[in-house]
Amino acid sequence: MTSIAFIGLGNMGGGMAANLAKAGHDVRAFDLSAEALERAAEAGCLAATSAAEAVTGAEVVVTMLPAGRHVTAVYEGDVFSSAAPATLLIDCSTIDVATARANAGAASAKGLVAVDAPVSGGIAAANAGTLTFMVGGSADAFARAEPILAAMGKAVIHAGGAGAGQAAKICNNMLLGASMVATCETFAMAQKLGLDPQTFFDIASKASGQCWSMTSYCPVPGVGPETPADRDYQGGFATALMLKDLRLAMEAARSVDADVPMGERATELYEAFAAAGNDGLDFSAIIRSLD
Ligand code: NAD
Repeated sequence: MTSIAFIGLGNMGGGMAANLAKAGHDVRAFDLSAEALERAAEAGCLAATSAAEAVTGAEVVVTMLPAGRHVTAVYEGDVFSSAAPATLLIDCSTIDVATARANAGAASAKGLVAVDAPVSGGIAAANAGTLTFMVGGSADAFARAEPILAAMGKAVIHAGGAGAGQAAKICNNMLLGASMVATCETFAMAQKLGLDPQTFFDIASKASGQCWSMTSYCPVPGVGPETPADRDYQGGFATALMLKDLRLAMEAARSVDADVPMGERATELYEAFAAAGNDGLDFSAIIRSLD
């Protein structure tokens, strides 16, 4: 049993903290939302009255917060001053690579050990404990983080040094965003050319156009396995979150001068789709904007 502080009990963190408690860990939870904190207490966590209180005496600190600025604020405001030497900090939030690296450096300067461990998988996977973690940090830090993350996921992969988890996450999601747009425009065009969507799905799923966005997450209702398209694009991976990840990917691309024309175009299209009021729909709903 490990003593774990868990900060950020929202859509994702709530289920993750519950799974750590279910695995027998001593979880001291904190969130600015009293409602989220109450749910965590009902799920077997100990509700702390502040982040500092949760962190004091913990061996591991897990954060699941909206963006880089929140993680830095919690680290600088509470974690660095309250954590015991050599405490392991695991940030599971999706944040920019530069902030993840800066936070790891700042933690190390304070005698703490940090990894970035963003996730693949949504709220259902967080609740079910079937997330995939991509971890950036030293081999020793990864070895310490792995058993904790395993209690919340089905796969824990060491991506490389500090920031490598975030880099892997946004590269994957840039590919996903671009391939989803490509899948959507292809189905729209196939239909205009008189092809039956199911027939085209059967052909392309077995041909060289095959990709996850089509075969496993088909954006056309009634075609392929059951997906958010079959639920009027409710649930799944929200357009707002895809756009967040694409913006992070563009920021990272600029920082290393990478040429990403498809990623840029996908970002522009998701910007427009979200601005038209669709940010709550699953990201495959972008097919509705492609005529
Ligand atoms: P969320 O907004 O539901 O939860 C964030 C929680 O952090 C909220 O409960 C908020 O009150 C809390 N919080 C904010 N600042 C705080 C502070 N200073 N101290 C304590 N608590 C604070 O967000 P989410 O959907 O759970 O996502 C969390 C992270 O996971 C994000 O970085 C997101 O990009 C990433 N992610 C989300 C999904 C998804 O499907 N929702 C999937 C993969 C990754």
